[in-house]
Amino acid sequence: MRLDTLIAGGSIVDPIAGTLLKANVGFAGGRVAYLGREAPEAARVVDAAGLFVSPGFVDTHMHDEELDDLYTIQRALLLQGVTTAIAGNCGSGPLMEAYKPKRQAPMLKLAYQTGHTALRKAVGIDDAYRPATAAEIARMQGLLRGELERGSFGLSFGLEYAPNTSPAEIDALASLLSGLPERWISVHIRYDGPRCLEGVREVIDIARRFKVRVQVSHIGSMTAFGYCAEAVGLVEAAKAEGLDMSFDCYPYDAFCTHIGSAVFDPGFEERWQKGLSDLEAASGKHKGARLTPESYADLRANDPEALVIAHVMNGEEIRTCLAHPSCAVASDGVLHDGQGHPRAAGTFPRALRILREAGLSWPEAVRHATSLPASMAWLDSGALAMGSPADAVVFDPEALRDKATFADQLAPPEGIAYVFVDGAMAVDHGTCAAEPAGRLLFKGTADAR
Ligand SMILES: [Zn+2]
Repeated sequence: MRLDTLIAGGSIVDPIAGTLLKANVGFAGGRVAYLGREAPEAARVVDAAGLFVSPGFVDTHMHDEELDDLYTIQRALLLQGVTTAIAGNCGSGPLMEAYKPKRQAPMLKLAYQTGHTALRKAVGIDDAYRPATAAEIARMQGLLRGELERGSFGLSFGLEYAPNTSPAEIDALASLLSGLPERWISVHIRYDGPRCLEGVREVIDIARRFKVRVQVSHIGSMTAFGYCAEAVGLVEAAKAEGLDMSFDCYPYDAFCTHIGSAVFDPGFEERWQKGLSDLEAASGKHKGARLTPESYADLRANDPEALVIAHVMNGEEIRTCLAHPSCAVASDGVLHDGQGHPRAAGTFPRALRILREAGLSWPEAVRHATSLPASMAWLDSGALAMGSPADAVVFDPEALRDKATFADQLAPPEGIAYVFVDGAMAVDHGTCAAEPAGRLLFKGTADAR
């Protein structure tokens, strides 16, 4: 058999076996079709001497809500080696009907969960603080059923953004996931800071009552105020009890969200023991400036969608959390008019560096970015085994580093030579291919694999 591509001379990172193996890997028909020391005939041979050949990174938590025609966030993720990403997190939209006509060819493999807030908006709830009525809940159930039938990967809640969501509202929607294979619920929990453990207990209870997998989203940004180890301990105890739980974290000690959201309602200073000067406008007219009482009031009133970076978490807790064997790396990448937090462009190289500094081997560090998140989403793209999807990132382990900063948010990382999506070369030394190589993934079909 003639291969489409042979990546020759590199070291293959196997996150499942925990090994680095000097071997060649060949792709044919979008799948791994050769692994070994030979050099079978191939239409294209890529020289990977001195480089690592890793499975493509799997990002179970990003935001593609804006559906911008420039694919800015997809490009940022692809350039850092992400080959599969899951959007629709933290309750955000869009519903599948809305993006489908626009998105026939994403730059990477892209899946969506159905956001609770998006469902609320679809049934006419514009007030984030109002619990849904029984009739609205019934209509949301109908919409969610349809989304799941269309291939949604599951349901996401952003309870901190819809803080008065009632248990009845949660239960009615969560119950639809019960017993549905390979779907799960991601939750941005109800509280950050001192009440976060209450928030974690609330979602553990969802997993317990509905026998459904629950992913605690960006656990670091909710709990790294002195509570992270205890929060992770609660999740691990729930797993020991037999519940199906997972969590993810991004490698920064600052979070980012819209200034108009409930997160920035009065009281945040006490919650985080920080002040307005720890908040930095990340988009809009005050971009780059620390907030003042005047700019805070201006943005809240006139530009609630503007993104604000909150430099408020404890970095040591974040690093410890990332190195926990159950913690998946996820970007939580979100952009507004192409502006936002550097995590959209730097998360994976940065997390790998932090994990290496924490003493993990390369295969073990890579596991947090590949086979672990892939298994959390029932995807088979977390390792380069025979027959696996031909998703790979070829990088120089010495040179790999994130370059995105709070001032230069979209700067691509260094050290990545190639990214392959379904066997197509999607990135060649920092340049994305002209033709998008990705596709939408839908659960319940062969496509989802
Ligand atoms: Zn979130």
